[in-house]
Amino acid sequence: MSTFDDLTNNFSRLPGIGKKSAVRIVNWLLKQDGAYVQKFAQNLGVLQERVRPCKVCGTWTESDTCPICSDPLRDSSIICVVEQPQDVSTIEAYGEFKGLYHVLGGLIKPLEGVGPAQLAIAPLLDRIRGGTVHEVIVATNPTVEGDTTALYLNKLIMELGVLPADGGRDKIKVTRLATGIPVGGDLEYIDKRTLSLSFRGRSEF
Ligand code: ZN
Repeated sequence: MSTFDDLTNNFSRLPGIGKKSAVRIVNWLLKQDGAYVQKFAQNLGVLQERVRPCKVCGTWTESDTCPICSDPLRDSSIICVVEQPQDVSTIEAYGEFKGLYHVLGGLIKPLEGVGPAQLAIAPLLDRIRGGTVHEVIVATNPTVEGDTTALYLNKLIMELGVLPADGGRDKIKVTRLATGIPVGGDLEYIDKRTLSLSFRGRSEF
């Protein structure tokens, strides 16, 4: 297979890119500055080796602990639970949330065989047990799976029955984002204002 066809096949496998777009991209790359294309290829080559999940929250990072978890100015009393690392980027881009994150790595989908054991739920409970967490915001998408996962997390955290290690509130609060996000919608596609309102209007289960 020619390099052109091979690369077209590679691109057509990317999310949201069909065969036509893949051909367009390869044609476009052929006309770009050589240094840009070299750098692009180089980054792709080292991507999986350099970028890995943060040992604490699970978002992508190039060190053991991500810059958010390592930042002493972030509010460690609030953990925002999200489905995927890209949700961290979305919430960071809106810029008002100053707490920490926890990436589940998916949602509970019994029909697809994804149960709690396949998700980073146990490490979340460990963080809650051992830390200074006062509030857990469940920011999974408002889909059936997102709601099921949120309810399940609320139940588990309530069952833990732990008090925040540093005192304060009588029990840990579990909240869900307000319904500014369209039902069945995706965190990734909502605008900053809607996200901001969803955070401010969040409520306890
Ligand atoms: Zn982290």
